Amino acid sequence: MAIKFRGVDFLEFDSLLTDEERLVRDTTRKFIEDNLIPIIEECNRAGRFPRELVKPMADLGLYGASLKGYGCAGMSNVEYGLVMQELERGDSGVRSFVSVHSSLAMYPIYAFGSEEQKQTWLPVMQKGEKIGCFGLTEPDFGSNPGGMRTRARKSGKEYILNGEKMWITSGSIADVAIIWAKTEDEDNKIRGFLVETGRPGFRAEDIHGKWSLRASVTSSLSLQDVRIPESNLLPKTGGLKSPLMCLSQARYGIGWGAIGAAMACYDCALQYSLFRKQFRDQPIASHQLVQEKLTWMISEITKAQLLALQVGRLKDKDKAGPQHISMSKRNNVWMALECARMARDILGANGIADEYPIFRHMANLESVKTYEGTHDIHTLIIGQSVTGIDAF
Ligand SMILES: Cc1cc2nc3c(=O)[nH]c(=O)nc-3n(C[C@H](O)[C@H](O)[C@H](O)COP(=O)(O)OP(=O)(O)OC[C@H]3O[C@@H](n4cnc5c(N)ncnc54)[C@H](O)[C@@H]3O)c2cc1C
Repeated sequence: MAIKFRGVDFLEFDSLLTDEERLVRDTTRKFIEDNLIPIIEECNRAGRFPRELVKPMADLGLYGASLKGYGCAGMSNVEYGLVMQELERGDSGVRSFVSVHSSLAMYPIYAFGSEEQKQTWLPVMQKGEKIGCFGLTEPDFGSNPGGMRTRARKSGKEYILNGEKMWITSGSIADVAIIWAKTEDEDNKIRGFLVETGRPGFRAEDIHGKWSLRASVTSSLSLQDVRIPESNLLPKTGGLKSPLMCLSQARYGIGWGAIGAAMACYDCALQYSLFRKQFRDQPIASHQLVQEKLTWMISEITKAQLLALQVGRLKDKDKAGPQHISMSKRNNVWMALECARMARDILGANGIADEYPIFRHMANLESVKTYEGTHDIHTLIIGQSVTGIDAF
């Protein structure tokens, strides 16, 4: 039986939003309902990224939405967060595509690029005509990217790049990769480079056999003597803090996105529990143990909404620190995964079928818990913030 999403607002959360914020949220929600929900289960089964939505999402202004100029929508951080929530209510893989394109590819060009680089890339990326990816993780360096082996060597007016990147979202469909590498002539300082993916020596291969984020492209990248002009260096990058600044943008969006996945699971489980009958012809929603699960979910979703909103309000005032963003990412992804597991349980056997969105969200959230800083790495970031002691 098809269950239609009705939205989730227990504590008049909407009253905390401006008209403009609600409009952005509702527009994205309708887009997802009309365009993604009808095809997402087929995409998930086939392991297919719904590329046909790239242009329509550009037309909605979803790429680089919180950037100003270059054709970007100039949304507030709260508006951007609400967009992420609605995208992930549809699917974490589609939200990942938009997050990576916007926060991990467009943002570094915007924040660290020359004016010429911004003019060249941002307008076409905003229109979805060129797609970006972000290459930081390597086969041997995930949580500790500072150990990376990818190298850039200066040769005349070029850089020559060598290395391997792993688990790169949109890697094989990207036109441009932001590659993080140690520069040999600058004492191995980490810098960011714009690498057009058609250059000789650049290869992207998709990772198959994923049980999670199946509607998202995930690739490994290999760079063998890839030559790029020196003008492809992102001039304002310097050290590990540059990619970490990009990750802060993306993690902020995930803090909101996870709420969307949780809402989808909760609302589905609530509706199901009201029509599914077991014992004395009563809906399972009438059993105390089922109510306890629904109560846990709606309480945690409501707390997560308030947390994400406060971090967003702080970010709009330029006051959100990495520790605040870590709290939102860590808490909200954990709570969404717990909601997905409880919702799956409430649906009984139906919970494992893709007639309902729950198992897909649950599997997706396992990746979301790991990428952009694992749950435990965010624990250490918050721990460092409150104790002043680095426990990595
Ligand atoms: C679907 C998907 C898409 C991705 N997309 C991208 C992308 O676009 N670009 C990109 O660069 N990367 C991407 N990643 C990579 C992702 O960021 C890494 O997987 C993540 O940083 C964790 O690294 P790892 O998988 O190597 O795990 P590891 O770093 O090996 O960690 C394994 C376990 O050890 C724990 N651990 C590690 N260090 C410590 C410590 N000091 N203390 C306590 N526990 C610790 C971790 O918390 C984790 O539980 C993606 C990953 C996935 C799954």
